[in-house]
Amino acid sequence: MDFTNQISPEIVPFLNVFIFVIGACVGSFFNVCIWRIPRDESIVSPPSHCPKCGHVIPWHENIPLVSWLALMAKCSKCRISISPRYFLVELLTGCIFLLIWMKVLAVGQPIAFVFPYFFLAALVILTAFIDAEHSIIPNEITYAGMVAGLCFSVIWPEIWVQHRNWIMPERLISLMLSSGSLIVSVLFMSSIAIGGRYMFKKDALGWGDVKYVGAVAALIGIPACFFSLLFASLTGSIYGISLIILGKGKLKSAFPLGPFLAAGTIIWVFFGEIIYESWFHLSELIALKFSGGV
Ligand SMILES: [Zn+2]
Repeated sequence: MDFTNQISPEIVPFLNVFIFVIGACVGSFFNVCIWRIPRDESIVSPPSHCPKCGHVIPWHENIPLVSWLALMAKCSKCRISISPRYFLVELLTGCIFLLIWMKVLAVGQPIAFVFPYFFLAALVILTAFIDAEHSIIPNEITYAGMVAGLCFSVIWPEIWVQHRNWIMPERLISLMLSSGSLIVSVLFMSSIAIGGRYMFKKDALGWGDVKYVGAVAALIGIPACFFSLLFASLTGSIYGISLIILGKGKLKSAFPLGPFLAAGTIIWVFFGEIIYESWFHLSELIALKFSGGV
């Protein structure tokens, strides 16, 4: 399904607008998920309504980005404020979807890559907002990410298998790589979670974080997981130390790691290849230095 070369340059600007609009609409759905999933409410019914007066929101008050601005961030009936989060999530999702699409076209990746990347965007946005507010990463999100990753590996093996010299069928190899990444990352993260609990007598890593990393692995592989974990450990530590210095936290205070993991994942989506190549280049230089080559 690689039709990158078949997209005529004239229609690219229209496709860009289309992808942004789709992203903003998906973001509108994410807003429903961010509010309802942690409250154990259904994401399909009842229809969107004002949490204060119960006013059912008609379609023309539910247009992504536009309605929030037109209503001046207030319910049309009771005038209660609507959180800027609604606008922010729609804008963020639209921008991330557009940037993913542009990146896949720019680097000439198989077009199928947009699907795991879009799903990853969903995982990242939902995790960041829900974990920041409720300190949980719901199973609905992480399990959906794992299942999607395994399904995508069967539907579009080119996500995992770029060279066609395999003896086994591509789809089988691809499924093995996706499920293998999932298992290895979950085992690795579980050992850190259990080891951390044993050593520090508190949860260093939540099970939601473990499952989140498993979902990232099933969607795009282990390097993305390790980078997300490394990035979250570094930035999370800086955040924790800053809280202690500012007198807003203690050494034993816990804070959600999800937003930091999510930030690491999205950085990997856009700059993964550069980080990967730089890492190998640096490792090579160090190896050469120690072997007396430089
Ligand atoms: Zn209202």
